[in-house]
Amino acid sequence: MSDLRELYQEIILDHYKRPRNFRKLEGAKGEAEGYNPLCGDKVTVYLELEDDRVRDISFQGSGCAISTASASVMTEYVKGKTRAQAEALFERFHDLVTGKLQTTPDAPELGKLAVFSGVSEYPVRVKCATLAWHTLRAALEGGEEAISTE
Ligand code: ZN
Repeated sequence: MSDLRELYQEIILDHYKRPRNFRKLEGAKGEAEGYNPLCGDKVTVYLELEDDRVRDISFQGSGCAISTASASVMTEYVKGKTRAQAEALFERFHDLVTGKLQTTPDAPELGKLAVFSGVSEYPVRVKCATLAWHTLRAALEGGEEAISTE
């Protein structure tokens, strides 16, 4: 299990150092800001929707390795998904990081999101890992309100 854990750590660090889709999306149709006061993580998610599908997604912000890497991996996963698929992924991801989903073979659709499975051992980190997803949900709903995990 420790090899797997090291691999997961490497992937998280890689996404932290070189976050994917880290930019402002000009002309974004959906946008929301999230803040996790427990850790100081801040994220803004930008969305370009086409019908009900995420045509493009990006984010900006500053935060710990877990929150930044989670936002980065999320943008890779959500691009091209429908609103409903994105919501369903968030449910599964939430179950994973809160320990309700023990093994990823039960949820192969999570793919690389499995790297955050170790978060379930650190409850204080759950908000870091889910901040970007909560913010995505707000952006999908088209709300202008700032999201706080508190
Ligand atoms: Zn954090």
